Amino acid sequence: MAKKVKYMKSLISGILLSFSVCLNCFAQSSQTYLIKAGKIYDSENNIFVENQEILIQGDKIVSVGKDLAAHDSTVILDYSNSTITPGLIDAHTHMLTEQKVNGDLVDDVIKQSEETRLLRAVKFAKSYLEAGFTSTRDLGNSGQYLDVELRNAINKDYVVGPRMYVSGPIISSYDGQFGGLPFKEHEKLTKLEYRLVNGTDDARLAVKEHIVQSVDVIKILAFGNSLPLSLEEMKAIVETSHENRIKVTVHADRDWVVHNAIAAGVDGIEHGYNFKDSTFMVMAKKGIYFVPTYGSVEQAIHYYKTANLPYDLEEVKKGFQPTQERLRRAVELGVVIVAGSDAYFDLGITRGDNAKQTLLGYYEAGLKANDVLKTATFNASLALNRENQIGVIKENAFADIAVFEGDLETNFKESLFKVQLVIKEGKIQYENAFVKN
Ligand SMILES: [Zn+2]
Repeated sequence: MAKKVKYMKSLISGILLSFSVCLNCFAQSSQTYLIKAGKIYDSENNIFVENQEILIQGDKIVSVGKDLAAHDSTVILDYSNSTITPGLIDAHTHMLTEQKVNGDLVDDVIKQSEETRLLRAVKFAKSYLEAGFTSTRDLGNSGQYLDVELRNAINKDYVVGPRMYVSGPIISSYDGQFGGLPFKEHEKLTKLEYRLVNGTDDARLAVKEHIVQSVDVIKILAFGNSLPLSLEEMKAIVETSHENRIKVTVHADRDWVVHNAIAAGVDGIEHGYNFKDSTFMVMAKKGIYFVPTYGSVEQAIHYYKTANLPYDLEEVKKGFQPTQERLRRAVELGVVIVAGSDAYFDLGITRGDNAKQTLLGYYEAGLKANDVLKTATFNASLALNRENQIGVIKENAFADIAVFEGDLETNFKESLFKVQLVIKEGKIQYENAFVKN
């Protein structure tokens, strides 16, 4: 009996405690902010607009304009010398993986426990926020659904990080991406990281398994190391995904493997290092978005330095010319470009800053600041099926914003790496006291 009273007391105090925690949550999420911006990037119209104000209430943007009315309780944040963008979106991440510059991808799977991979990813997730990313799309190499675990932990506020959209294990032919494994090890190790399919029925089952585990997107390998998925398998995957309102994106790092994926009806294509103009023309016509995971010269230098390799700056720059030309061609041919970093190397910089090198890479290729930002905001929201919710600063969108010191339009390269403030769903997630506003 005494035990029961004690149990009742703890139950009541538990309820009261959770009630007070919830009140606290409500107070936090209903905070109103009026942010004064020197410039904002309007991603819908792809222009910068000077001297704007953004009113945030709860988790949403209430209004954007000039001389907005604010209540006494509204917190005013003055960033009139700064540029504000929608929270950035990286549409191709691998939070659960890290490859050493002299290591192999399979090393990470063999040597790291799932717990270590998750705890390490917590650090990466925080760094994404601090770099100005409020949403990411994680595309595999996450063990068996560790990406789902991290996404859920962020959504429950157990840890801080960007809003994650996740794919679960990459769906592949009987192949995967670990090359050169001994025969006896191939299936055992590859199955730790990929969902290998054999035939159309198995392909459909793989998608269903992913849906049951509540993934947000399906990622397939058109070609692993030796084997492609067949046209029939890809069609089965796309059909099953689309029946369940889930988009499919395909890893295709060479031109010849992508045509079956396009014929199967994929929504997006990742990498595309050697794509021909004719492929881009088909993509533009069919509205298939393109995620060019091209880095920057600076990122390559980080790589060489971390790996202790000699390099010649002019040669490095020259090495980027073909991919830069390809990006320009894709833009000219009308392909929708979506920013994706594919950052997973340990380059001695934070993962978030590593990811942002992709935006620098697009800029180095000749895209203007606004066009670069569009790939990581408006276009990315389309790829994620979240148009009007993220990637835009407008009424009723989620209050996801990033504040950059100075003028991001005219001083893109420097300003991009000076993040002053990041708000996700109306809550301040990061504030850099050392960068002045
Ligand atoms: Zn990748």
